Amino acid sequence: MVAIRVCNKCNNNCIMCSNYFVRNLDETERTFSNLLSRIKEKEPTPKEITFTGGEPFINQNIFELIDKFRELYPKTKINILSNARMFSYFKYALRFKKHLDKNMQIAASLLGQNSKVHDSITLSPGSFKQTVLGIKNLLRLKIPVELRVIVLKQNYKQLEEIAKYIIKNLQGVKYVVFIFVDLVSNALKNKEEVAVSYTKTIPQLVPAMSLLKNNKIYFRLYHFPLCILPTEFWENAWISVEKMKIRETRICLSCPYSKYCVGILKGYYNTFGEIEFKVPEKVNLILGDNPFHQIKGIEK
Ligand code: SF4
Repeated sequence: MVAIRVCNKCNNNCIMCSNYFVRNLDETERTFSNLLSRIKEKEPTPKEITFTGGEPFINQNIFELIDKFRELYPKTKINILSNARMFSYFKYALRFKKHLDKNMQIAASLLGQNSKVHDSITLSPGSFKQTVLGIKNLLRLKIPVELRVIVLKQNYKQLEEIAKYIIKNLQGVKYVVFIFVDLVSNALKNKEEVAVSYTKTIPQLVPAMSLLKNNKIYFRLYHFPLCILPTEFWENAWISVEKMKIRETRICLSCPYSKYCVGILKGYYNTFGEIEFKVPEKVNLILGDNPFHQIKGIEK
């Protein structure tokens, strides 16, 4: 997977934004040829390209970029990270649909179950209403949506309510991803305000995951080490970051499950240390063949 930043502007101002970008920097370098050379440097024939920002749909040339990349890489999956606010304009969502194909999806972030929670994270009044309307418009047009819930201090106590909100209002999303806040960039700058421990988060996350599971809404977990999760949810945990972002610890080096576990993110380790992590008791894994997500279940 290769990620390219297609825009330096954003209509949100998220307190925990983990994207390294200079806001409102001149966009002239975001041309197709510049972006393409970045892809080729990293992975000449990528299986998946993720468009990030800023907000990709603030880029006036986004549809042209999509078309050009599609022409060059007809079978590559294209995943576009977005706050979905632009899609609150139904005509804009319709316009996007013309550039869509079966290997493309929007990964939209929902940060709360109401304006109070969501907008306190985006620091952008009115963003919740637009995001929800945007996601609903995408679903109405049958555009595939991955729903991303970034978990941080502002919303970890609301996770069950967020799950209820999704079940009630956003049926039709392909799947939900809970992403534990990565303490880099803005999130690192605002660490005191956004950082929360796994120990506090997991008891709030478990009822949310159970609710989704009972309602047959599939979910993934990004940045959640296996040993802080109940084993029944190991099959949802993905290896969501590259090795360079992980702190190697003696505990993990001696852990038989390290191959299947994301590990401890450096930002987390520097803030909370390693006290919460321990080698899990032995279980027998049923494995699949996705390098980012090998655990298919636990033998009973
Ligand atoms: S000890 Fe380390 S490798 Fe093992 S499950 Fe915990 S975080 Fe993952």
